Amino acid sequence: MVHKVREADLFESSVGLVERVLDTSIAEKIRSCIQCGTCSASCPTAYAMDYTPRWIIAALRAGQWERVLRSNTPWLCASCYYCTVRCPSGIEFTDLMYALKRLAIERGIYPKGSPVLYQAFTGTVDRYGRSAEVELMARYYLRTLNPWGLIKMAPMGLRMLLKGRLPLLPHRIEGRRELAKMLDYMRERGEG
Ligand code: SF4
Ligand code: SF4
Repeated sequence: MVHKVREADLFESSVGLVERVLDTSIAEKIRSCIQCGTCSASCPTAYAMDYTPRWIIAALRAGQWERVLRSNTPWLCASCYYCTVRCPSGIEFTDLMYALKRLAIERGIYPKGSPVLYQAFTGTVDRYGRSAEVELMARYYLRTLNPWGLIKMAPMGLRMLLKGRLPLLPHRIEGRRELAKMLDYMRERGEG
């Protein structure tokens, strides 16, 4: 009986932490996870994650914040939304991944180099309205002080270039001003 009371206390305090640090609606939904594992079984990148989506929910409920933020899981999420559409409890796991990435950057707790790729990507989208692969990879490897990584990618880059799959110069889309307004709006709402 005593053991049960302690478990309940721990659960409540962890959900309270989720509410304080993340979004109240996410915290409420985390409560309803039945640990069925459908999210993990559906996730195309789970094989490479430190912890699977199901484990992440369990860890958050147990207050294991630091382990979650130090894991590569949020950074390997491909935003495919499989976990979200298949979750029987209606948990929007993809949104949770975004929230965790924002939190990790805010608190400076993340696996080495992880946010750099995202920042390089959003930088190219801000400038051109779309990804610019050559610039993206150059910025990533230079900012992570790993020029050797860039050299290792060169043969694949060359093959893609020869097949016309890798433009050297970035393409700018039309309507960049409108896109910038939308991105500003999302950032103001904490969603960008
Ligand atoms: S699919 Fe939903 S209910 Fe099942 S473990 Fe994942 S988050 Fe929990
Ligand atoms: S949205 Fe992310 S966590 Fe969910 S299934 Fe897709 S890759 Fe996995």
